[in-house]
Amino acid sequence: MNKLLTFGLLILLISCTSGNKSSIPCYAWLGGPGKATDSELKAEFKDLRKKGIDGLMYSAGRDPEVYSRIAKIAKEEGLEFHAWIPTLTQNNNPDMKPEWFAINGIGESTYDKPTFGAGHYHFVCPNRPEVCDYLEQMYSRIADIPEVDGIHLDFIRFPDVILAKGLWKKYGLVMDREFPQFDYCYCDKCVADFKAKTGIDIKAVQDPSQVEEWKQFRYDLVTSLVNRLALMVHSKNKKINAAVFPGPNSIAKKIVRQEWDKWDIDAFYPMNYNDFYLEGTKWIGDMCREGVTTINNSKPIYSGLFICPEPEKKAGDPDPENHGLLPGELEEAIKQSMENGAAGICLFTPERMTAEDWTIFKKAIHTSYVKQ
Ligand SMILES: [Zn+2]
Repeated sequence: MNKLLTFGLLILLISCTSGNKSSIPCYAWLGGPGKATDSELKAEFKDLRKKGIDGLMYSAGRDPEVYSRIAKIAKEEGLEFHAWIPTLTQNNNPDMKPEWFAINGIGESTYDKPTFGAGHYHFVCPNRPEVCDYLEQMYSRIADIPEVDGIHLDFIRFPDVILAKGLWKKYGLVMDREFPQFDYCYCDKCVADFKAKTGIDIKAVQDPSQVEEWKQFRYDLVTSLVNRLALMVHSKNKKINAAVFPGPNSIAKKIVRQEWDKWDIDAFYPMNYNDFYLEGTKWIGDMCREGVTTINNSKPIYSGLFICPEPEKKAGDPDPENHGLLPGELEEAIKQSMENGAAGICLFTPERMTAEDWTIFKKAIHTSYVKQ
């Protein structure tokens, strides 16, 4: 009798566990809170939880008090909460000194000349100790908030030395190779440190894009900042993860100098935004496969999906920022991700999801996809 009871309990336990597992882990990038009240945030988070979102990568500036307020509400609604704060872009931040900003190959600073003229492209130099100290302290204050589960790094990279192909038309560029005006960082410290390390005066080199050590020097600058932040966050028993470019080898390293397979963080959220690369859903699977293979499946990879906000207008809209996955592609994008080794997915953004998207999403996240 006792044995039967134990057996019954065991079966119950197995079925409960597998019941949980049948839902794909889903995160969402979300910004706020704007003027939303606590009860409005509560309603928003409750709704997302019901729709199948397990955790938020939430962007709300840099103020710990704001994160504390929002994280508390998110936790009450059963959501994981990661503070999503850009790392090497510090726009409108009065704490940043002009000399901390990155300098391109023709001597221009992103302080007053943001790359591509884009307002959110004021990049700081990851080789400046003051920048790294500032970032460590800023993230440390956020990681200290009890309800915050983790720190989510973004713009943890150099400016795009080569833009994704789908963005060329928007900026009127053909970026078939590296051009000096988009290549960073040539500040005095970077140039001097590289010379001291390798003996090469990079400013005297005709085509710096051919110097492998110069590339590696900059991969290492980003990696060392990430690993320093990881050490600090882990010392507080919190998680740290990052939004990364797809790859790492085929894209992230080449266009934004992210050698993310060397980063000591807990999870990766590659922005597998297929429309930016003029690719379809199969490519999303290829990118997931490359990521998990490169890191030997040692950490979870959540496949970042870019959702089209107004599907009926996509064909006629020239701005790639308004493109993204159509409802008819969403299921295939999730399937491709999961069959190619992703641990789950991350939506950019829930606000862009249509009612049709949510119906398809709900069904897809309860499907058991088998890793191929
Ligand atoms: Zn520099």
